[in-house]
Amino acid sequence: MTSRQLQRVIESIPASDGAGVKLRRSLGAHQNLRLDPFLMLDEFSSDNADDYIAGFPAHPHRGFETATYLIDGHMLHQDHLGNRGDLKSGGVQWMTAGRGIVHSEMPQQEEGRMRGFQLWINLPAREKMKPAGYRDLQPDEIPAAALAGGGRAKVIAGTLVHDGRSTPGPIQGVTTEPLYLDVELPAGAAFAHPVPAGHNAFVYPFEGSVTIGGRQLRAQGAGVLGAGDQVEVLAGSEGARFLLLAGRPLGEPVVQYGPFVMNTREEIEQAIRDYQSGELTRAA
Ligand code: FE
Repeated sequence: MTSRQLQRVIESIPASDGAGVKLRRSLGAHQNLRLDPFLMLDEFSSDNADDYIAGFPAHPHRGFETATYLIDGHMLHQDHLGNRGDLKSGGVQWMTAGRGIVHSEMPQQEEGRMRGFQLWINLPAREKMKPAGYRDLQPDEIPAAALAGGGRAKVIAGTLVHDGRSTPGPIQGVTTEPLYLDVELPAGAAFAHPVPAGHNAFVYPFEGSVTIGGRQLRAQGAGVLGAGDQVEVLAGSEGARFLLLAGRPLGEPVVQYGPFVMNTREEIEQAIRDYQSGELTRAA
């Protein structure tokens, strides 16, 4: 197997979204900082309610999927389809915006730590206008496997392969075949995982640091990996916790305007008109 090297780092930068939620954005901080099929990765982490209390009031999306992984905290998702999801520590919501969804994500806590991630995953052209969908995954639906070399891995999407075993995550059957792992390693432990050669992959440490192919990757930077068919990560002296994300690139043009991600400018203009007219959320 060929191990993927650390090719470049997309450092996260402070940003604000929703009604003023403070976060760090790596992928998607600029429109050319994407890794097909991943459009954006936001990390939010704060013990100060002022940084998150305003939440994400009702807003639209079209043309892609969002995966919200809450590590600490409590948020409520509601959307125009009538879905209501109580997102608690360790839970995930996987939302397929498709042709259109209007949703809100509001904190259900007034103090304490709020920490987690929102990832945007692109949809292929032929699926951008499919009906919207929503899955609310409770913490006990996210498998956590103990690793032989120490530590543990949680599987949100795709299948964890470790120590001669396979542990499938709850999200399967997505066209871009995303792998979404949350891996925690003690100091100095190694973690290796296969990733198909044609897929794009990156590692995002959010506690401690890791080394990949002899190069250090510090927390809060997205380490984009080069060619190969496996990922090998070594935890630093304080241990590490990181996301490993991989997926099959679409190789299609991306035109984004805020919460709408389509293939052409005309489709974006249509999305804006559809939102204004109410067509975006009309039943298909
Ligand atoms: Fe949203």
